[in-house]
Amino acid sequence: MKVRFWGTRGSIPTSMNADHVRDKIIGAVEALAESGNSDAEAAVDALPFHLRGTYGGESSCVQIQTGGDEYVVCDMGSGARRFALDCMGRHGPGAPQVYNVFQSHVHWDHIMGFPFFVPAYIPGNKVRIHGCHDVLEEAYRRQQADPSFPVHFDFLGADIEFVKLEPEQTYQIAGLSVTPFRQLHHGDSYGYRFEQDGKVAVYSTDSEHKLEDADETAYFVKYFKDADVVVFDSMYSLAEATSLKEDWGHSSNMVGVELCHLANVKQLCLFHHEPIYSDAQIAQVEAETRRYEEIMRGEAAPLSVMASYDGLTVET
Ligand SMILES: [Zn+2]
Ligand SMILES: [Zn+2]
Repeated sequence: MKVRFWGTRGSIPTSMNADHVRDKIIGAVEALAESGNSDAEAAVDALPFHLRGTYGGESSCVQIQTGGDEYVVCDMGSGARRFALDCMGRHGPGAPQVYNVFQSHVHWDHIMGFPFFVPAYIPGNKVRIHGCHDVLEEAYRRQQADPSFPVHFDFLGADIEFVKLEPEQTYQIAGLSVTPFRQLHHGDSYGYRFEQDGKVAVYSTDSEHKLEDADETAYFVKYFKDADVVVFDSMYSLAEATSLKEDWGHSSNMVGVELCHLANVKQLCLFHHEPIYSDAQIAQVEAETRRYEEIMRGEAAPLSVMASYDGLTVET
């Protein structure tokens, strides 16, 4: 099982502007001058990620690669457009595919990519949208209703099915064991635990954690238990999450580390990045989280921490 990130930004897609690019170039030129490396490619590869690359700005869309024929993807944020292009590039329009979507919740940043998800327009394709919310179909239809979008949902050519799941039940779908679990967020959200051949990946976004509640902590530890990868909503810093933005429905990098230590997780992928953060700021959050993990580790197994970015693939 592999986890491929197509959109990692929280709340609204964002892009770099001219000032951001200029800052990046200045930082890179300075670092390259200091390095004295005359091999341009090697010198650029040695730069910190936030200078030579970008975390990207697409909203939530994360593919679970199973090695099987059917596609599995969590959420249809704006990253779904690039995911679709990748699929179309691989198969072309003439080879029908099955897509299994697992929906955390229907806030706009998690469904807005669907009207641009080309496979939904192609007859012969099957798109199954799974979720625990009663309003799943209504939300998908409404964003394509007049006067918000030119193409009505009923015009889509693929066979589209909405599949209601119950939290805490385990389902066998596309070669995976899939267990949804409920999370604290406005209107509720659901995380998903995916298991295949002893490997575990957890997708847990748009979830606020109140670690002082022991029952709640135990509930999440159960669903994160022994995971190879946990994709975790770490939109706010701990200070923001516990004071300014309490009850805003999101969580912090620090809480992610604590839950993952308790659950014996191997890799934590920070996710749903704050849209106002620059690449340098996300890199700083990543560095601080790694430092915090070392300090808090105690008897727990070492936890690998990375900030997810659009285009990243992580092996379980
Ligand atoms: Zn969100
Ligand atoms: Zn949300």
